[in-house]
Amino acid sequence: MKPQNSLSSEVSVIWQQLGYGEPRQFVCGFCSANVASERGYFAQDPVTGEMLMQLNICHLCSRPTFFDEKGLQHPPPSSTQPIQHIVNPEIRALLDEARRCLSVHAHTAAYWCCKKILILVCRDKGQNQIQSTSEALDYLKDSGHIPPALIEATETIQKSMPPASVLRVQSHSESLELYQFTDIILRLVYELPQTMRELQSQSKRDTAKVTVGSHTNQILNKLQKGYIK
Ligand SMILES: [Zn+2]
Repeated sequence: MKPQNSLSSEVSVIWQQLGYGEPRQFVCGFCSANVASERGYFAQDPVTGEMLMQLNICHLCSRPTFFDEKGLQHPPPSSTQPIQHIVNPEIRALLDEARRCLSVHAHTAAYWCCKKILILVCRDKGQNQIQSTSEALDYLKDSGHIPPALIEATETIQKSMPPASVLRVQSHSESLELYQFTDIILRLVYELPQTMRELQSQSKRDTAKVTVGSHTNQILNKLQKGYIK
């Protein structure tokens, strides 16, 4: 499986004095691959010998994932599938930053990354005058990028947002909600239209092949029956 996000490029490194333990299966928080790694660093209870903490190296991207004494994974795997066809590298970078902020409970930072992403989406659509997230959401609603079924949810998020001049600490639920909402918007604006274009283009090519094939068969039949000399 190929690594999928912007932190995923394979790095060529040699980890020093690695140990080997029981293979541990996990979804790498860096490259989103499902891996089974036995290489890493292992911390045992000095009395019982019980394995308490470990750091496993992903054999695809060579990055380390830490499992604490409660078995919690750091960084955790991405909660969503990677979004395809985002053409703006700044949006990609901010989305990745928001995801990593959420993984270390930096909720306010994640929230502000998402606010910035929503403004950048509108700028991608030529709306360079848009300065605030509220203006961005108004544009996305009015232009039809947000479908009617999501208008009420959008307005609830809009009303709960602090004004741009107010720096407020955001809660886990607020930042997670805005992150997931931003994920949906990016799929609606970038991923779904391009995916449909590609599917329809493929469908047209397949139809053309069938049509050409049928026509060719008709000519061959006529030749065989002597209708065409
Ligand atoms: Zn990895």
